[in-house]
Amino acid sequence: MKVNAVLFVMATLLVGLAGSVRAQAPGQDAASPYPVVQGKTYRFQKIADGVYYAVGGGGSNDTVIVNDNDVLVVDDGTTPAGARALLEDVKAITDKPVRYVVNTHFHYDHTDGNSVFAPNVDIIAQEFVRTAILNFNILNREPYLTSQGTRVPRLIETLTKQAAATDDPAKKAEVQKQLQAAQTTLQQLHEIKPTPPNVTFDSKLILHKGGREIQLLFLGRGHTAGDTVVYLPKERLVCTGDLMETGIAYMGDAFIDEWITTLDALKRLDFGLILPGHGTPFGDKEHITAFQSYLKDVMTQVATLRRQGVSADEAAQRVDLTSHQKDFPQIKGPGADLRGVRHLYEWMASQGGQSPTK
Ligand SMILES: [Zn+2]
Repeated sequence: MKVNAVLFVMATLLVGLAGSVRAQAPGQDAASPYPVVQGKTYRFQKIADGVYYAVGGGGSNDTVIVNDNDVLVVDDGTTPAGARALLEDVKAITDKPVRYVVNTHFHYDHTDGNSVFAPNVDIIAQEFVRTAILNFNILNREPYLTSQGTRVPRLIETLTKQAAATDDPAKKAEVQKQLQAAQTTLQQLHEIKPTPPNVTFDSKLILHKGGREIQLLFLGRGHTAGDTVVYLPKERLVCTGDLMETGIAYMGDAFIDEWITTLDALKRLDFGLILPGHGTPFGDKEHITAFQSYLKDVMTQVATLRRQGVSADEAAQRVDLTSHQKDFPQIKGPGADLRGVRHLYEWMASQGGQSPTK
């Protein structure tokens, strides 16, 4: 069952990263309807005047907003090295300085680059992000633990054994290349210094940058207790972090019942395009409705299995969400992320055994 859960997570990640590996010539991108600037690591899709969607860092997709005199970056990579690569590549689109970073939520793939930003860069987030980074021991808990902390050392162990076991020179060279990459990743992880935002807000913060208005909005709990969406009303764009991805988001810190309501608030914003924390930009509000329907289904099925006395680990195998495959093609069969299902069980227990479905 663990394998299923891991495969599910991997599939989610792969879908999230899909499209980030193709080499593209500047200004051309068969996979993107937008003009593209290719940096060394990141590929920037120009979504609107001064608004770029950055893909290719191996973690979240980030948004770079170039203002009259400065730059705001939404989310900043999985490691300090990733953030440095982003800063370096931003020079391919502007010579203005990065002065603001917004963390859409506290998870590692959106905040672990924070430490590289100079003191004159404001790191802004909903106040829960600061609480979480200061108090949650985030490098020793999920989602970092499985996705990075234990995965990379295990990968190194496996590749080391594979390299020793093969006599085929070509295969050995390939495995050693992978091993070297994994060792580099491990060094980069060791450099992480959890760094909280220095500017926080409760429900709304607006930056007025020349002709551009940048609204940071907390619409309610959902993917985490402190998700920010970055809304550009004039451009009719909204960066949703992992509150709304193209695919299915991690649920281990979620408030699933509230998430459904928070997504209603998202739908009420006047926007033409979502720039999600993972996946590809999309504008169809029906996709949000489809995700709400997925969340409701997860809740109902997990509640039923829990009432039947099924363990969380078994429920994670038995939950069947394949009816949502049309909207979320990364669903390949029955099962759901174990961390999300365990989290739901704990939450349901904390509700006094009542069914969370309304
Ligand atoms: Zn993420």
